[in-house]
Amino acid sequence: MSVLDELPVVVIGAGPVGLAAAAHLHERGLPFLVLEAGATAGAAVRQWGHVRVFSPWRYNVDPAARRLLDDAGWVAPAEDDLPAGADLVADYLQPLAELPQLKPHLRYDARVEAISRLGLDRLRSAGREQTPFLIRLAAGDELLARAVIDASGTWGTPNVLGASGLPARGEKKVGAYLEHALPDVLGTDRDRFAGRHTLVVGAGHSAANTLLSLAELAAEEAGTEVTWAIRSASPARTYGGGDADALPARGALGSRLRDHVDSGRIRLLTGFSVHAITPTEGRVAVIVRHADRGEESIVVDRIVAATGFRPDHSIAAELRLDLDPVMGATRALAPLIDPNEHSCGTVPPHGVDELAHPEVGYYAVGMKSYGRAPTFLMATGYEQVRSVVAALAGDWDAARDVQLDLPETGVCNSNPGDSTSTDTCCGPTPAETVGKGLATAVAGGLLSAPLNLISLDVAPAGGQTGGCCGS
Ligand SMILES: Cc1cc2nc3c(=O)[nH]c(=O)nc-3n(C[C@H](O)[C@H](O)[C@H](O)COP(=O)(O)OP(=O)(O)OC[C@H]3O[C@@H](n4cnc5c(N)ncnc54)[C@H](O)[C@@H]3O)c2cc1C
Repeated sequence: MSVLDELPVVVIGAGPVGLAAAAHLHERGLPFLVLEAGATAGAAVRQWGHVRVFSPWRYNVDPAARRLLDDAGWVAPAEDDLPAGADLVADYLQPLAELPQLKPHLRYDARVEAISRLGLDRLRSAGREQTPFLIRLAAGDELLARAVIDASGTWGTPNVLGASGLPARGEKKVGAYLEHALPDVLGTDRDRFAGRHTLVVGAGHSAANTLLSLAELAAEEAGTEVTWAIRSASPARTYGGGDADALPARGALGSRLRDHVDSGRIRLLTGFSVHAITPTEGRVAVIVRHADRGEESIVVDRIVAATGFRPDHSIAAELRLDLDPVMGATRALAPLIDPNEHSCGTVPPHGVDELAHPEVGYYAVGMKSYGRAPTFLMATGYEQVRSVVAALAGDWDAARDVQLDLPETGVCNSNPGDSTSTDTCCGPTPAETVGKGLATAVAGGLLSAPLNLISLDVAPAGGQTGGCCGS
């Protein structure tokens, strides 16, 4: 037995995927320790606890976790019910984290700040694979690990509003007007939106959720106005597959949103590319720059940035990572999850081989493994950690026997190879279409006249993308 074998596998994050990893590690008899930045299990999920997910329980429970819970007499929720984030925590993650097989191996308020190899910086090769990982916590203490399963998610690192992928000019100074994705519009955050004009930026399900809540609020509270801004030329991607979606709740979300837009209860701005944001007389002006007509602005009370998420790889900066330059996932995984080609349901099974980095023993899994791709489902993460843990246990047959049964979205498959189509959930956003939708808004008096006439190419990718699935 080597020195490494006596060390624990460290799991970063006690979300659905980190806890699933813990369940698999327990089943395989491998020593492990879960480090969670928050005060409880499912700390990130709790923050969107008011949002109902669109995948029913049968997709949301990891099989190894289920076996442990069943042995403890767990009363499983009905397979076809749709939990809210808060239900996921209360009825699944919390009971799982409380099991005697896992609880002693979970450490809360333990934010990982950096990972390296003991005594070896990224340049040093000799003996690297036999050298323990060094995990440094924000509180200052350090731990050693045999391997690292990084399930730290992306919730803490949302995309910016700026269309170039950098914060829009002034974005960092208007925090008082800016909301993280998925505020609790009808609950604890209601007062910030009632009777006010809110601009929701983004094209994913987070945007759709917030828009529907705001539309409900507008029906109850006079003076509540809702504007929705997307960068692409068509909202078809957000409307999704409707009746063709294998997850009816997800299909219904898009259909309800379409109704609100068609009836004018939600004003839609397409071709919207945020350039700058500036406070103005107690409100905030969002300045849009587009290719053919320079700049225009819209003045609102609040902005909800539902622009998706990006992974934070900085904690692994001293490790040897091989990341796809576009997606920020491993190079092997990126083509399998490319949102231009795949929806949540068309991602092929994948596991340890696709998740491996040159840094042997480090795996980013779960939401983080997808980088900027918005198509992640918990079920995918559960299969990832089953495979990775099997490999860590030396069971390569099981590690490579990857299986995945995912619900189809009803979009994205119509013509996956057609790069000119924007009429699918995952269709690319051709630069030449950006800006056209603003003409309608200007004609309708919603946007101000052009501020100046700088002409500029508008990048087709960057901050304002949303997701087919979670983001
Ligand atoms: C609104 C919403 C709806 C979704 N709906 C669905 C759905 O219907 N079906 C589905 O399958 N998926 C859905 N998803 C996508 C995805 O499955 C979830 O985001 C899921 O929570 C991802 O699990 P995770 O464990 O990878 O990451 P997270 O749940 O984000 O957990 C990561 C954990 O790591 C902790 N952490 C972060 N950084 C550190 C650090 N440095 N050190 C220690 N701990 C750290 C966090 O506090 C957190 O507890 C949805 C996502 C969102 C946001």
